[in-house]
Amino acid sequence: MKTTLKNNKECLRTCIGCRQVKDKRELVRLVHTHKETVEIDLTGKKQGRGVYLCPDESCWSRSLKKGRLEHAARVKLGDDNRQSLLFYSKGFLKK
Ligand SMILES: [Zn+2]
Repeated sequence: MKTTLKNNKECLRTCIGCRQVKDKRELVRLVHTHKETVEIDLTGKKQGRGVYLCPDESCWSRSLKKGRLEHAARVKLGDDNRQSLLFYSKGFLKK
């Protein structure tokens, strides 16, 4: 079977929680905005430093609790911001 790898690399991103490389459409983009907060970017078009996470609660809690997100996005996460991101990740459990 012939595989087309053309331009494929541009679609691949690493989840900062589990370090797996996946198509970015399978990941959730988070953006470190100019307001020094981290926001969930469902459009993939927000300005700022982007990091990617699987839509999996364990990847989120791992990277939020161990400072991985802060390191990857170069941000100092406030408690409110951290809580709201963790709250968002709980939604993945329902699926
Ligand atoms: Zn992951």
